Amino acid sequence: METDTIAAISTPIGEGAIAIVRLTGEDAIQITSKVFKGKNLLEVDSHTMNYGKIMEPETQEIADEVMVSVMRAPKTFTREDVVEINCHGGMVAVNRVLEIVLSEGARLAEPGEFTKRAFLNGRIDLSQAEAVMDLIRAKTDKAMNVALKQMDGRLSGLIQRLRQDLLETVAHVEVNIDYPEYDDVEEMSHDMMRTKTKEVHGEIEELLSVAKQGKILREGLATAIIGRPNVGKSSLMNTLVQENKAIVTEIPGTTRDIIEEYVNVRGVPLRLVDTAGIRETEDIVERIGVERSRQVLKESDLILFVLNNNEPLIDEDLKLFEAIQGLEYIVIINKTDLEQKLDLDKVKELAGERSIVATSLLKEEGVDELEKAIADTFFAGEIDTGDLTYVSNVRHIQLLKKAKKALEDAMEGLELGMPLDIVQIDVTRTWEFLGEIIGDTASDSLIDQLFSQFCLGK
Ligand code: GDP
Ligand code: ZN
Repeated sequence: METDTIAAISTPIGEGAIAIVRLTGEDAIQITSKVFKGKNLLEVDSHTMNYGKIMEPETQEIADEVMVSVMRAPKTFTREDVVEINCHGGMVAVNRVLEIVLSEGARLAEPGEFTKRAFLNGRIDLSQAEAVMDLIRAKTDKAMNVALKQMDGRLSGLIQRLRQDLLETVAHVEVNIDYPEYDDVEEMSHDMMRTKTKEVHGEIEELLSVAKQGKILREGLATAIIGRPNVGKSSLMNTLVQENKAIVTEIPGTTRDIIEEYVNVRGVPLRLVDTAGIRETEDIVERIGVERSRQVLKESDLILFVLNNNEPLIDEDLKLFEAIQGLEYIVIINKTDLEQKLDLDKVKELAGERSIVATSLLKEEGVDELEKAIADTFFAGEIDTGDLTYVSNVRHIQLLKKAKKALEDAMEGLELGMPLDIVQIDVTRTWEFLGEIIGDTASDSLIDQLFSQFCLGK
C-alpha cells in the first residue's frame, strides 16, 4: 500500500477567504511540523486545530498565518495521518504553503488521490468514492446534495437492499431444488421469483429515470442561444452571466489549472456551450448553414431561441423553428419595450407546448420568468434532492442498465416457464452487476454469500 505523503490545495467549493492545503500519509505531521511555528505538532492531540505560522524554510520569513488541524490515523478520511493547513493569505499564500510542504518531502497529489486512498484503505466503498469525486466536481448546491447523499451511502444502501432481495429469492430456489418432494415449494418459489424480480426491476428503472437529472446536475445543461442577428442573443448571454455569477470551481489535487465557468440558474447549472464560441458564431445558421447547425443544436440539452418583438416573423425565423423541432427549447420574445410587430399567435402555434417568455433585456424585464422557465423545463419545478437517490455516474448507469437487462431475461424465462435453476442464472448475473456498483463482487460469489447468510448446509 502506498503511504508516501501527498499534498494538494483542497479549497472548498465556492469562494472563500480561507484556502486549505491538505496532506495525507505517514509523514504528514512530521513534514508540517518542520515548517510550522507554534505548538509542537508532533505532540498535540489528534483532531485539534492549532494556531501558528508557516515559515519559509530558507529565510525564516512568515509565509502565512494559519490554523493547522492535525488528525491522526485511523479516524481520518484516508485512514492515514491527515493535516489540513487553513491559510488566510489568499491564493498566493496558499500556493506558497503548498510549495513549502512539497519542498519538505510531500508529493503533489494526483486528481482524486485522496479519495483513492480512502477507498484503498477501506474507508469507503466504490460508489462512495465516486460520489466524493462527484462532490469535488459538483457545480451547484443541488449537485452537491446529490453527491453528499450518495456519499452517505444512500445509493450503497439501496443497492445492498436490492441485492439482499435477490439473494433471498435465490435461497428459496435452492431450498426448492433441495427438497423437490414438497410440491407447493415449487409453486411458491415461482411466485416469489416473479414478484421479487418485478419489484427489483421497478426500483432499478426508477433509479435510471432520475439518472438523467443527475447527469445534468453534475455536468451542466449544454445550452445554446440561437436567433437571427440583432434579436438580443449577446444581451441574453450577458444577462445570464451577470445575474448568476459564473461559478468557478477549482478541483483539489490539480492545484490551479482546471477552472470552469458555469452559470447557475436556480440550481440548474447551465453550460453555456462554448461561451466564446457562441459570441462569435451567434449568427450560427447564416454562418455554417442549416444542416450543420442542426447538428450543433442536437448536441444541446436546451436551446434558448430568441425572437424580436419589434419585427414580424420572417422566413429565417421559421427555418429556425423547423430546425429545433423535437428538441428542448424555450422561446424568448425580446424587446417588449418596443412596439409589437411580431405575430404572437403564430409564435404560439409554432411553439406548441413549449414555454414562451417575454423579455426586455434592455430594461431587465422578464428575466425572472425566463429563469423559472429554464428550471421548470428540466425539473418540473420540483426537484427535491432530499427524497431522491440520484445516480449520476456513468459507470453506475451502465451497470444498472446491465442489471436491468439481466432481470428482464429472468422475467422472460419465468414467463416461458423455464426451470427455476435456469432462471436463477440471470438473477445471479443481476446480483453481480449490482455488486459491481458498490465494488463488491469478484471476491465473494453469490453462493458463498448464500452459505454464509442462510447456512443451507449442503
Ligand atoms: P444579437 O445580435 O442577437 O447578439 O443581439 P445583441 O444582444 O447584440 O443586441 C442587438 C441590439 O439590440 C443591441 O443594440 C442591444 O442593446 C439591443 N437590445 C437587446 N435587447 C433589447 C431589448 O430588450 N430592447 C431594446 N430596445 N433593445 C435591445
Ligand atoms: Zn451579438
